[in-house]
Amino acid sequence: MRGRFAPSPTGRLHLGNARSALLGWLQARAAGGEFLLRVEDLDRARCRPEHVDGLYRDLTWLGLDWDGPVLFQSERADAYEAALASLRAAGRVYPCSCTRQEVARAASAPHGPLDEGPLYPGTCRPPGGSARPGAPAALRFRPRPGVTAFVDGVHGQAGHDVREAVGDFVVRRNDGVASYQLAVVVDDAHQGITHVLRGDDLLTSTPRQLQLYGALGLQPPAFAHVPLLHGEDGRRLAKRDGATTLAGLREAGVPAERVVGLLSRWSGLTDGRPCRAAELVPGFSLQRLQRSPAVVSAGELEYTLRP
Ligand code: GLU
Repeated sequence: MRGRFAPSPTGRLHLGNARSALLGWLQARAAGGEFLLRVEDLDRARCRPEHVDGLYRDLTWLGLDWDGPVLFQSERADAYEAALASLRAAGRVYPCSCTRQEVARAASAPHGPLDEGPLYPGTCRPPGGSARPGAPAALRFRPRPGVTAFVDGVHGQAGHDVREAVGDFVVRRNDGVASYQLAVVVDDAHQGITHVLRGDDLLTSTPRQLQLYGALGLQPPAFAHVPLLHGEDGRRLAKRDGATTLAGLREAGVPAERVVGLLSRWSGLTDGRPCRAAELVPGFSLQRLQRSPAVVSAGELEYTLRP
């Protein structure tokens, strides 16, 4: 059994990321498995080295450790190109020069069923279409028709028809960088990940990734998508909520045990008493996780985390 945490170093870790890391770590350690760390720094413009240092510091502070060397996606371009070459050889990708605006204009609805932007209408798909010669082109993958179903460790039966939900999707951006969907599959397979645990904002990405596993002849891992933390306004807790970064809490003198206690209560694991991550390992199972989003109230946060 091998799990992983794969953050993008675009900011400081907040409580939401920390909870995914804690739960992934608990899942791996409770099974006597390994836990790997991968830095998803494909987006060079948004990722910063100081956030990588911060990541190590934050995880260590929480009491989470990882096995083996850290893998950086920014150093994996050759592996992504090799995967793209095999997709190309199988006739599964084609160049697309559509801009975002062109896709939006050509789509029948501003948002496809997944609300992740418009459904790609297939403008450049051969044999009928083709990319504009000389224009920067992305590569799009042609999914197989039909529902791509899977059993999620938290949500149970899940999946959708990728062609109907997002259409042909980008596997290499028009600046030559691999897309998240491609890189995550190539790297999870390369690192021998057997169990992926992550936030359920990525639940709708999984069918796309399963399609890529199939096309690349790779064995997919088991997936578990944990409910995100939400603020009182119903929006998911994100990096913009500055007060909830781990670095901020640490600098304010809040003990890590208190943060771990809070994270475990929001996951339905404990009553929230301060504890070390290692104390939660015995008896941990996905079945015990709360299935609905945890609502983080400002008052509760302030009270629990007061230094
Ligand atoms: N790097 C992604 C993120 O930070 C997570 C990728 C994954 O867990 O599959 O949102």
